Amino acid sequence: MDTINPNLRISGPATATIDVGDAHSPITVIGNDAIRQTFDDQTIQQAINSRLAPGVTDVVLNPDAHVGYGAPVGCVMLSPTHVYPGPVGVDIKCSMSLLQTDIPADEIVSQTVRRKLIQAIGKRVPSGAGRGQRHVPKSRPVDGRLGFQLTTEGASKNVLKKLGIPKAWADRCEDWHHTAPDGSSDTLAARLEFLGRNRDSLDRLESKYRQLGSYGGGNHFGEAEVVRFAKDQASREVAQSFGLRDGHVAFLSHCGSRGLGHDLAMGQFRSLKTSFQKQGLAFPAGDPQLVYADARSDEGRLYLCDMAMGANFATVNHLMINQLVLEAFREVFPSVRGELVYFISHNIVRQEQVGQQLQWVHRKGATRAFPARHPGLQRTPFAETGHPILLPGNPRDGSSVMVALPGAERSAFSVNHGAGRRMSRTKAKKMLDQHQIDTELMNHDILSNCRQYPRDEAPDAYKDFNQVLASVEQAGLATEVARLEAKFVIKD
Ligand code: 5GP
Ligand code: MN
Ligand code: MN
Repeated sequence: MDTINPNLRISGPATATIDVGDAHSPITVIGNDAIRQTFDDQTIQQAINSRLAPGVTDVVLNPDAHVGYGAPVGCVMLSPTHVYPGPVGVDIKCSMSLLQTDIPADEIVSQTVRRKLIQAIGKRVPSGAGRGQRHVPKSRPVDGRLGFQLTTEGASKNVLKKLGIPKAWADRCEDWHHTAPDGSSDTLAARLEFLGRNRDSLDRLESKYRQLGSYGGGNHFGEAEVVRFAKDQASREVAQSFGLRDGHVAFLSHCGSRGLGHDLAMGQFRSLKTSFQKQGLAFPAGDPQLVYADARSDEGRLYLCDMAMGANFATVNHLMINQLVLEAFREVFPSVRGELVYFISHNIVRQEQVGQQLQWVHRKGATRAFPARHPGLQRTPFAETGHPILLPGNPRDGSSVMVALPGAERSAFSVNHGAGRRMSRTKAKKMLDQHQIDTELMNHDILSNCRQYPRDEAPDAYKDFNQVLASVEQAGLATEVARLEAKFVIKD
């Protein structure tokens, strides 16, 4: 590691710092020896660029870090004054959600049963790039009016009722809605009316609303899991209090704001870049992907409005998917019961109190990690335990539910968001063998909806998930309460 960056200093178990000059506090790095080897020069350079960018006061590099859009994927960037749309990215509020069912693991041992479930889900929840409601027979249709409402209100009681989603699920969201910076949904409504001001733009918006309840492409996925509680009693009790059930089937989903969030983010990048060029402003480290705005400026507020609308869509999208997945399970298991455990994002900027300062906390491929009695959890079901942290790993090695420890303060109350890429998509397609991937998944008894598992999504395209989790635990940020064992994957 020292060969990668001479300014890296080990500062504790699985923690290190990177100095960036006397005028700035160093970058915090989370990762044990094995993980630190996975950070390439470009990732470190992006972390340094982000740390030195205007208004930024702290950067944390997590064990899953790899090259991203301006800032690394797998980092946290703090600023009391500025917002950075690049690090939030084009998939605004890409998130994880977990649905717990009361079906014992034994009930899905049969491959026939699992194939039926895959089919039943496929009839309701489209997957693959660009896909929407018209591609499946049993979606929940969304007209322009409802699309407008959910984009401006998020998971409000009214919206949930219209979509047939249990209203209690709103309490299981990190944020059930997002407003404009002035705290109002009406401001978002005015902005959305403006964005749909002519027939073409309105048609485009409405076509994006009709993607509600879908996964999209890339590494977005739905996965049936068997829940395995951790061994120690304290963790088991936490897992239980989250509503998890040991040895029972759960369903993990990964997706974001689909085309709507993408369009909003791209529109913002374009206008912010143009504004920089007009004013003759330099991009941080010459990188246009690190374009920024003062959060209180007109431009900053406009960005935050558009991000909030993308985030509202992502929220209702996940809740809709969970409801549709539950309905699909009901087709195979008529008396099944299911409850949302949690819904949490890993691509968003939120305003949070960190130490003495109110900060814009940018989580770029990073997950919020508030421990028990964190003020941000007051009046939530998780005030006394900390909230569930949902971490996808890979189908072969599983995924994880963790809970934060007080030590999470050293990483701005954040942890990783997954295993993180070990190789680029291009490299994975070149290096990894199709037959070997499919055989390995078969040997692990993991089914999927794809005839050939995408090579660039194979477990070996990602870092060693056990080392990633070990780093988080060794650094004292969080502890695992349950492992999720994949039984089938829905992807592309
Ligand atoms: P990202 O948000 O950066 O697109 O990806 C999040 C994480 O999801 C990745 O770092 C990887 O660990 C995980 N992941 C990707 N595909 C799968 C999958 O099919 N199953 C599981 N369990 N995890 C996955
Ligand atoms: Mn994601
Ligand atoms: Mn995404």
